[in-house]
Amino acid sequence: GLVLGIETSCDDTAVALVDSNGIVVSSAVASQTMIHNRFGGVYPEAASRAHVDKILPTVRMVIEDAGIDPRELEAIGVTRGPGLIGSLMVGVDTAAGLGHGWGVPVIGVNHLRGHLRSADLEERRVTYPAIILLVSGGHTLLARMTSPSDIQLIGNTRDDSVGEAYDKVARMLGLGYPGGPVVDKLALSGQPTIPFPRPMIDQGLEFSFSGLKTAVMYYLAKEKDAPAADIAASFVESCMTVLLAKCRRALEAYPSASLVVVGGVAASPQLRTQTKALCDELEVELCLPPLKWSTDNGAMIGLATWDYLTTGRSAPLAPQTGLTIEQF
Ligand code: ATP
Ligand code: FE
Repeated sequence: GLVLGIETSCDDTAVALVDSNGIVVSSAVASQTMIHNRFGGVYPEAASRAHVDKILPTVRMVIEDAGIDPRELEAIGVTRGPGLIGSLMVGVDTAAGLGHGWGVPVIGVNHLRGHLRSADLEERRVTYPAIILLVSGGHTLLARMTSPSDIQLIGNTRDDSVGEAYDKVARMLGLGYPGGPVVDKLALSGQPTIPFPRPMIDQGLEFSFSGLKTAVMYYLAKEKDAPAADIAASFVESCMTVLLAKCRRALEAYPSASLVVVGGVAASPQLRTQTKALCDELEVELCLPPLKWSTDNGAMIGLATWDYLTTGRSAPLAPQTGLTIEQF
């Protein structure tokens, strides 16, 4: 059987068909990057409008691409939160309508659980117990997982996410949105010569990135001619040092079979190489989703939907903007 996963929590309209082993039969993402680029961030009203325009054509494309009869789907899984309220509403309402028309159950899915499950798309990679580093646009957290449905939060950010810091630094440097890939690329041609802070590095498993962002802002205001590549390299080095220190501490506190790194920032080549070195040293497996499943997509929501089906879990379908990773 197949599940149709629908994801509209932020600025991408994403749909996919996934089987219970995480095999992706078809997938499409209508990206809104072009729309939000000129605002230097996601503009919520424009995001919901674009979802309204894109969602049915994207669903149709995925169904036609797979050549299936949608009435034979096991379920439709749709992101119910966390995310932007208007964007979530478009996905949930569309899913409810399609489910009603096709006679297929509709399940509200926690977006963060989707990111977690992205590491098992196309092939099983995660071994348990696992430590998860989730580094997305809106979240930076560490969790412990003993099975796909048993998740315990062990460290969260007190303020900004690391992805947000990347996006803000990109905006300060005039690099556009989304900031992660451009800042990462620019960092490769610079030297990490500026001693930016490494927030909370010696304190437990919590994170804080707003001070680092502010430090970059003050530095830019003071040193107007500083090479942007060196700023990017120094900023990335601060982020990586903090993320790696926290992963190491989590793996030492909770002996685990694997480290799972998911979310948009998991696309960072620096983070991929450095977590690999850490895992080799600690003799822990590193589980990374293929690059295309790191940022928002329908396939991860589809695979998470299977966890709800197999454990018999359900959640209200109504959008909820502030879900935590421990909730269904
Ligand atoms: P959330 O899931 O928390 O609601 P989101 O879904 O908007 O947030 P993602 O799509 O997972 O977030 O990730 C987007 C973030 O990833 C952005 O902040 C972007 O700058 C960052 N990002 C994308 N590619 C890279 C990269 N190569 N290096 C660093 N960061 C990256
Ligand atoms: Fe996301």
